Amino acid sequence: MASPLLTASAAILATFALCFVGWRSRRLERELRETREHLALVTGGAAGTTSIVAADDWLTFPASNAQDALWDWDVAADRMRFSQRWREVVGLGPVEVHRSTQEWWGRVHPSDRGQLEVDIAAQLAGAGTRFAAEHRIRHEAGHWLRLQWTGVIIREPNATAVRIAGSVRDVTALHAAAERQRHEALYDSLTGLPNRALAIDLVRRAIKRTMRQGERRFAALLVDVDRFNLLNDSLGHQAGDELLRGVALRLATAIRPGDVIARLGGDEFLLLLDEISDFTDAESVADRVKLVLTEPIRVLSHDVVVSASIGIVLHDPAQEQPTDYLRDAELAMQGAKRAGRARHERFVPEMRDGVRRRMSLEQDLRGAIDRSEFFLLYQPIWDTRDGIERLVGFEALARWNHPTKGTLGPGEFVPIAEETDSIITLGLWAIGRACRDVREFAANGPGAPWVSVNIARRQLTDSRLATAIDEILHLTDLDASRLKLEVTENTILDDEGRSRAMLETLRDRGVRALMDDFGTGHASLSYLHRLPITTIKIDRYFVGRMDVSPECLEIVRSIVALARSLGMDVVAEGVEQEAQLTQLRELGCHGVQGFLLGRPLLAEESRALVAAVAGQGGYCPRSVLRDLGLAGGHRHSVEGPSVEIVEA
Ligand code: C2E
Ligand code: CA
Ligand code: CA
Repeated sequence: MASPLLTASAAILATFALCFVGWRSRRLERELRETREHLALVTGGAAGTTSIVAADDWLTFPASNAQDALWDWDVAADRMRFSQRWREVVGLGPVEVHRSTQEWWGRVHPSDRGQLEVDIAAQLAGAGTRFAAEHRIRHEAGHWLRLQWTGVIIREPNATAVRIAGSVRDVTALHAAAERQRHEALYDSLTGLPNRALAIDLVRRAIKRTMRQGERRFAALLVDVDRFNLLNDSLGHQAGDELLRGVALRLATAIRPGDVIARLGGDEFLLLLDEISDFTDAESVADRVKLVLTEPIRVLSHDVVVSASIGIVLHDPAQEQPTDYLRDAELAMQGAKRAGRARHERFVPEMRDGVRRRMSLEQDLRGAIDRSEFFLLYQPIWDTRDGIERLVGFEALARWNHPTKGTLGPGEFVPIAEETDSIITLGLWAIGRACRDVREFAANGPGAPWVSVNIARRQLTDSRLATAIDEILHLTDLDASRLKLEVTENTILDDEGRSRAMLETLRDRGVRALMDDFGTGHASLSYLHRLPITTIKIDRYFVGRMDVSPECLEIVRSIVALARSLGMDVVAEGVEQEAQLTQLRELGCHGVQGFLLGRPLLAEESRALVAAVAGQGGYCPRSVLRDLGLAGGHRHSVEGPSVEIVEA
């Protein structure tokens, strides 16, 4: 017999259990009732065979919690049922109902309707059992939703589809995210312009279009902002971004509707021009680009004026790869940069040969110093103050004795070396060799000739330069005053602050700096004033045209006056004729250098020259030069001017 206590506990437990079951079932009951009430509302006004009615309880209950709405389409009867969730998806109020499938079709986006009809018809007509569709539908609030339908097709033995049922999901947000992702993959976030990937695709389409339509051609313009890195570094990256946006807006005003502008990355933009018949057409757009960039761009309360170098490539039936067009446009753009920036250049196939040559030289350059393939020539520099030329110094000019290509001038290898680290090594080698040689030409002392060495970009910003020069001067036992460095605006512009600091450090040690190629860049007077420069070199372009161009004569005259007012010396380069020498003397320009008074000489010739003039206090009667065979000729010089200037 069970104990009363046990019986009581069992009873309590049983009651509790019953209560629990009862509570649970009551909740279930309530939920079912509520669902049914909802359904009644939905089905309330439905009538006729084509009405869309809510689903049965069995369907509605599990569906009430689901994200997806459930649907069931009785194809034969053209009757559709939906779960409660459907009303939420399309935003129907509690008493509103679909009256007909017609009404449902009426919600489908007009542009999607045709395709959807075709899709559904095809799936019904086939033998498959899976149904899928995606389209836009109007929400009650007026906006468009994107819905994804999946279902099962139930067929009769003869394959006729009688019923399709499944679920429908609102994928609007997903789709928008995917769209955003697609947009991000194809558009530049800074400017909103097509990015490189899309640009390549657009060029591909342009190639196809041109092939189909024959006579219509296209042109691609690669626009690269000049000295953007400099602006970016000096104004800050935020300003840099702002500037790029400004440039993008400007460029957009230079093209015609239908033309495309893309940002290839960094400061490079691509303009894709449709309906171009020849280079002249494309060049007129390039001119417009230059024009729209002349107005300053407002960047974080600064007015910034930029210029651009532009490479132009025309459609060529032999070129089918979009990337080939970008590469060719880039080559032409680089040509424009080399020719002095702020200009455009047409692509010509020879530019590709140039690239091949450059690439092979780049290979050969590695190790060329170790193999002692470089040597220096020394061009005498004279002072004509007393009416007769006195040897004061030399300019060291580098040459590469290439194993197969012969003697190469700096124009061929300096730009390549500048792109790699070899310019640092090459530059230091040149300073070391020049110091050693000039010390060998003559002992330190009053009137001993100095040597000036050309300094390339990046050398001045290399913090090791000062220590290396200290060491060289020490090892070669050369007075610091006998070494000069020739810098150009380009050398300094990369990082004016650091370059100036380096020049000041060197000046404090007694090493002086010359401003080379003066007049060819944009150097302003204030700029010259800020730098520790002791001598200005007038570019040979002006010297060579003094007799034919009054402007050039005027420039030489002003540079001489400027140098005098700043207390600087001045040297005229490229003096080839007696008349030029006379003219320069009259203008008060006493420093001269040029083929007339000595071409670039081998080290031993230079030593001979120093020895020959030593007995004459540095003075050098023209007969000495003649006797030594050192003037006039071009023997060790290589073709090609250092700077190409196009006369305005
Ligand atoms: P640059 O500094 O303007 O050098 C003067 C150039 O003018 C030299 O060309 C010289 O041979 C040439 N020249 C001298 N007198 C005359 C003349 O009367 N008429 C004509 N038409 N030309 C004359 P080079 O040696 O071909 O040097 C070209 C440029 O290469 C130099 O221009 C200089 O910027 C650069 N360079 C030369 N050596 C070095 C070097 O060791 N390092 C670096 N970074 N650059 C160098
Ligand atoms: Ca020079
Ligand atoms: Ca020069």
